[in-house]
Amino acid sequence: MKKYYIKTFGCQMNAADSDMFSEYLISCGYLPTDTPDNADIVIINTCSVRQHAEERAFTEIGDMKHYKAANPNGKVIVVGCMAENLGDEIKKKYQQVDLVIGAKNTQNFPEIMTQSGIIQKGIAAAVAKNDNKISSHITIMRGCNNFCSYCIVPYVRGPEQSKPVDEILKEITDLTERGIKEISLLGQNVNSYFSNNVDFADLLAKVSEIKNIKRIRFMTNHPKDVSDKLLKSISTLNKVCHHIHLPLQSGSDKILELMNRKYTFENYYQLVRKIRYYISEISITSDIMTGFPTETDKDHKATIEAINKIGFDFTYVFKYSPRSKTEAFKLKDDVTKEKKEKWHKELLDLCNSIAKERNTKLIGTLSEVLVESSADTPEINDDKKEFFGKGRDNRGIVFRSAKNLIGQSINVKITQAKIHSLIGEVEN
Ligand code: SF4
Repeated sequence: MKKYYIKTFGCQMNAADSDMFSEYLISCGYLPTDTPDNADIVIINTCSVRQHAEERAFTEIGDMKHYKAANPNGKVIVVGCMAENLGDEIKKKYQQVDLVIGAKNTQNFPEIMTQSGIIQKGIAAAVAKNDNKISSHITIMRGCNNFCSYCIVPYVRGPEQSKPVDEILKEITDLTERGIKEISLLGQNVNSYFSNNVDFADLLAKVSEIKNIKRIRFMTNHPKDVSDKLLKSISTLNKVCHHIHLPLQSGSDKILELMNRKYTFENYYQLVRKIRYYISEISITSDIMTGFPTETDKDHKATIEAINKIGFDFTYVFKYSPRSKTEAFKLKDDVTKEKKEKWHKELLDLCNSIAKERNTKLIGTLSEVLVESSADTPEINDDKKEFFGKGRDNRGIVFRSAKNLIGQSINVKITQAKIHSLIGEVEN
């Protein structure tokens, strides 16, 4: 049987696209494999958001030279943001690449595969896929209109396009038939979803009506677009999880303006207060970027103060990485590498200590966990397995049980806290 291998870089949207490629190839009679060595098709799904992600993808593409030498009939396909941004360079420089599909075209993957002759036309057939997964994600919109000055996404993914509501509801209903109970709705800025007079809050209400969906998550949000209507929906729709990822990026108004984020720190802080007023137990996670052009110690200090004032449940901290085509690329990348490293470490240490502190406060409380997976623990001599699931607030929780609880919602009492996860015991 023919096989395919997919290497995915970048965000959850790329992961969702890779799932779509995978599903299509399975419907064409291919099987997944976890190494390119024995694959007939290799797909490298790339990311352009940071220089580092591009470098890793280039290494992967370069390595395909050996794959191609050993498998002259194998096909190497490069897809995603880097394929959109640097497609010509990739085609010219890497003879081992057979096909390049840019991010604006990923949804046409099946047609492109048949047009290129890699997949025979008419071969795809519906398959009943059952991979025991409990949660899945779907892309509800593509592209972005915001043009944050550091971000390449609007250039490589194009303007916002919302998927029609009926298509979304059908995709989710199909997923429930395979056992999916939790769905994550993905977009660069889901708050600006709009299709046929349905906005994002309306969409959440419609997805809530799908009987076998137990939980709904969504990602990611732009602070300027979080409406009162959306907050009311999150607080009143039982299936919508109490977690919001709300990238702050900087605590300095000067840097926020240069980033073209369209809010001040005070706007952001008042929004956080409102969110916590509507949904008191919500977890708020964020992204912070450090080392933006012209950033000074004073700006860095403002970010530290902002993080302390808000107290995020978890924060991803990134170093600024200049991307050609963006507005920020025109500014001198004047924060030294050493300073970026220093600020990054300071912010990461602070954010992690706040996350641990907030997790520690949950010790002794109960969390309703939707159990996703299990692992054997041969080092512990009992008949129990280790299970993993998430609480409604998106915190990962690990516990042990002798019963197979995958797919069930159970109460777990939190006994230990770490930075990234909690440990607990099943509450009978
Ligand atoms: S909202 Fe800003 S950071 Fe997010 S994808 Fe759009 S331009 Fe990029």
